Formats: sequence, structure tokens, C-alpha cells
Amino acid sequence: MTNMYAIYGSSGCGRSLMPVAREHLKRLGIQSDIYFIDDRLTEQTIINRHIALSYSAFKALPSNNKYVLIAIANSKIREKLAQQLEHDQILLWSIQANNTLLMDEVDIAEGAALSPFVTLTSNIKIGKCFHANLYSYVEHDCIIGDYVTFAPGVKCNGNIHIEDHVYIGTGAVIKQGTPEKPLVIGKGAIVGMGAVVTKSVAAGTTVVGNPARILEKK
Ligand code: UDP
Repeated sequence: MTNMYAIYGSSGCGRSLMPVAREHLKRLGIQSDIYFIDDRLTEQTIINRHIALSYSAFKALPSNNKYVLIAIANSKIREKLAQQLEHDQILLWSIQANNTLLMDEVDIAEGAALSPFVTLTSNIKIGKCFHANLYSYVEHDCIIGDYVTFAPGVKCNGNIHIEDHVYIGTGAVIKQGTPEKPLVIGKGAIVGMGAVVTKSVAAGTTVVGNPARILEKK
């Protein structure tokens, strides 16, 4: 029996990441099919030339080691599914594109999806199941928690701390902090697309605009 690989989620995020997964395996010289797992499927089907099945059907397939990348933008779902996989002794898979750039001392936990043109510079620590979509970057001395999601084109500058479950929208720019006073984006915060974040963001809040301000719920 051999290793088996799958992308969990076959909607937008999963179908965008499947080609990244294919080139990841090719780069490592591994010849293996990659499955889609999706719980909305009641029977096995084909999506973009890949076998697609439910989680229970995937779990039933015989294999020594199963590696699964959770390709779902909602971080709470990623956390729930990661716990399920760990419980079932299925490994969290990390993938990156051929042109993803990791510089020095980048410590990144399992389950990451690093899309094409993503750049992570030096002395960076990142938690579980990080999603960095197309063209996003993370500059030096950043600390990023678990289940953090970057939409495309996020500019995360140096000395920024991002806590668990933060979502950063497309094209947002976050001002650099300093080693003594990092800029902090608190747990579960949402940064709207195109926001220019010039100061720390409190946990659980949504900020939008330039300069970014709290979006008051009506
Ligand atoms: N999904 C799943 N199991 C879950 C939750 C979600 O298989 O417990 C699937 C869901 O059926 C859908 C995909 O994950 O196909 C999420 O797609 P969505 O369009 O909501 O988001 P995106 O692809 O942008 O992350």
C-alpha cells in the first residue's frame, strides 16, 4: 500500500488549489492521484479530472498514510475538519506552488496552502492550516497563529502579529510594527478587502477602509 493524497473541499478554494497540489507532488517526484473530498457528494464523481468522494468513502480506502489539505476558506470549518482528521489519524498535508518563495527561518506548521507567487521572507512563525492566496506576502519577524486566511494580494509587512482565525481580505495592506511594539491583529478579526491597516486591530472586530476603521454593525 502507498501514500494517498486529497484536497478537502471541491468548491472555489479546492479547485484553485488542486493544480498547486499536482505541481507540489510533481516537484517531489511523487506519482500519485489526488482525490477531492467533499461531504456534499452522495456518490463518487469526477471533478476537474479527479475522483471526488465523501469523507467517509475516502476514509474507507486502503492506504498506509493519508495526507489531506483542507482547502476551505472558512477557518472554523478548517479547524473542525483538522480535528476530525487528527482523530482519524489522517495527516494534515501542506502544499506550495513552484514559485512560492520561502526565505530564511520560516517555521510553518502543518496543513498550509501556499498559492502561486506567495512570498514569505525571513524569521517568520506560522501556525496550522494557514492559507496564503495568490500574490500574498509575509515580511520579516511576523508571528501568525492557527487557521489564518489571507485572500489574494495581502501585504503583511514586518513585525506584525496575527492571532488565530483572522481573515484578511483581498489586497489589504498592513503597516509594519516594530520589534518593541508589533502591530497586532487580534483573534478572529476580519480585515476588509483593500483596507489600509495602520494600527492594531482588536480581537473579534471587522475593520475596513483607508485608514482602516471598525465597521459598526447596524
Ligand atoms: N465542505 C465539506 N465538509 C464540511 C464543510 C464544507 O465537504 O464539513 C465542503 C462544501 O460541501 C463545499 C466546500 O467545502 O463544497 C466549501 O465551499 P465554499 O464555496 O463554501 O467555500 P470555498 O471553496 O470558497 O472555501
